[in-house]
Amino acid sequence: MSHSSAPNTAKDPTFTAKSRSTWEIVRRVAVYLKPYKLMAVATVLFALLSLAFQFAFPKLTRIVIDDVISRHQTDRLTPVMLGILGAFLLRDLFNSLRIRINNIFEQNVIYDMRREVYARLQRLPVNYFDQRASGDLMTRVIEDVNSVERILIDGTEQGTVAILSIIAVLAILFWNNATLAAIALTPIPILAGGVLWYTLTAHRRYRAQREASSAMNALLMDNLQGVRQIKAFGREPHEDTRFAQRAHDLREGTLGVMRVWAIYSPAMTFAASLGAGLVLWVGGRQVLAGTMQIGQLVEFILYLSFFYDPVRQLHSLNQMLQAARAAGERIFDILDTPMERMDNKRRQALPVPVLGEVIYEDVGFAYAPDKTVLRNVSLHARPGQMIALVGPTGAGKSTLVNLLPAFYELTSGRITIDGHDIGETTLDSLRQQISVVSQEAFLFNGTVRENILYGRLDATEEELIAAARAANCHEFIARLPQGYDSRVGERGVKLSVGEKQRVSIARALLKDAPLLILDEATASVDTGTERLIQEALERLMANRTSFVIAHRLSTIRHADQILVMRQGRIIERGDHDELMALGGLYSKLARIQNTTFIEEGFEKLSEEKPIAAVE
Ligand code: ADP
Repeated sequence: MSHSSAPNTAKDPTFTAKSRSTWEIVRRVAVYLKPYKLMAVATVLFALLSLAFQFAFPKLTRIVIDDVISRHQTDRLTPVMLGILGAFLLRDLFNSLRIRINNIFEQNVIYDMRREVYARLQRLPVNYFDQRASGDLMTRVIEDVNSVERILIDGTEQGTVAILSIIAVLAILFWNNATLAAIALTPIPILAGGVLWYTLTAHRRYRAQREASSAMNALLMDNLQGVRQIKAFGREPHEDTRFAQRAHDLREGTLGVMRVWAIYSPAMTFAASLGAGLVLWVGGRQVLAGTMQIGQLVEFILYLSFFYDPVRQLHSLNQMLQAARAAGERIFDILDTPMERMDNKRRQALPVPVLGEVIYEDVGFAYAPDKTVLRNVSLHARPGQMIALVGPTGAGKSTLVNLLPAFYELTSGRITIDGHDIGETTLDSLRQQISVVSQEAFLFNGTVRENILYGRLDATEEELIAAARAANCHEFIARLPQGYDSRVGERGVKLSVGEKQRVSIARALLKDAPLLILDEATASVDTGTERLIQEALERLMANRTSFVIAHRLSTIRHADQILVMRQGRIIERGDHDELMALGGLYSKLARIQNTTFIEEGFEKLSEEKPIAAVE
């Protein structure tokens, strides 16, 4: 029996994104800067202004040493001091402006990018989500977006400013003393080698770190959702260990990134200091020989420090670039995945509302090339009919109904609604006409009102209440402390199973779509509630073509058609009487005593003799 079939494809918590070049990431991310050109120019401008006033300090220091101190020009001390103070003040003022604009710039880009990633994510096929853990995707939208954006902003600003100031300082240095300037540059080959080594090793490490972060978030998310199961099974210590493992991986990943930086950054500073040391050595000799004044040497060394600051900045930029590359790959993995039915132009909208004639012609479907789940399924539902699907777990019932709203695309055959092939219609017009009521009602974390209105956002208060009444939930809602404005909690935890079901039925009633997919709940509720739900469902099914994945024998007795499925095929079809007369699997099932649930019946049958050999 297909009980033994594997559960849904295991989710890979860290779906590795395709590797991309740094250049590709930078080029694509740069597109997000376009709307903010003015801000980009302003930050660079203010940074340059700030830098210009910074440059005044060495010059004024030389004046203090060579003119004021050496030549005893005492009266010049105060004006020079004021000059230095003024220059510092302006430097920091422009810096403050730069930071302010930079922050706005940065947050705008993050906002745009995050919205785009989310919008795209929502429109990816269901299949995409089947393969990936929610926590992984959350990490991409939250953390990776930040990381990618930093390179842009800091890249445009710090990069430009650093390069310009390197050029400016070099010019000043060569102008002041060409020999010393040439000596100061001797460590450059070491720096270049360092950059190369770092770039090569950092990307791999950042990738590993991003993946470790995703894996930890994925586990956390899963565990928060399954907190009741963890408690019920007393698995806290087990989960502690699992979480510790992921946290450990993240710690190691982060340390891996930091380790190379810890070597690279000081090594580069040391190489740079070599230059300063050499300058002091040769410059000291020049001062002793009387070819240079002491103030000039101090000025030169101060300028030299302005040379290595931007060089260090370029190193940090390279660090960010490698981090951004790893994060960018994960973001573009989302942005580059084709959306569901991208080409909407060729597609036609279904007429609204459809009558509700649904035909499956030789439908075949596989989740993966080697995992065929449906084979040659044909069915014909007339408008308003109730079609019940029964069969052992894993027979393909849910898969069959999930093809109707095109959650997945068919592998072969076709499905038509009122004669229109759903493979050629727009998703909007298709899904607008199908209500799905699932086995476990999913409620959003909001109020009861918001949850019902999800069916039709612009419904009036009267329509809302009418739907709630028809779903037999108005009374319990009215008794809640805040009535329709009571909050239901995450996934609706504050409501009972029976209450959640009725709220989700009200939502479907409000949507009032001509087609209905109903996965009947298996959870046991008391007979009173059961009757209320049953009534609500009958009202929901009235005048709609309904596909019901039936779990209770009582439900299917009055179905217009019962389709018995096994291993992806329909093996018996007809109404209750016809199937009883047929004397097949269904009739055996229906004759078992004391059975409420169909699956239970199949199990009892399989104990008598295997009903299906595993293929
Ligand atoms: P039923 O509803 O009859 O219990 P399903 O349609 O859920 O059966 O499943 C049919 C088969 O398809 C099962 O073998 C199941 O493991 C597989 N399956 C269901 N959903 C997925 C999915 N999202 N990805 C891969 N395989 C799936």
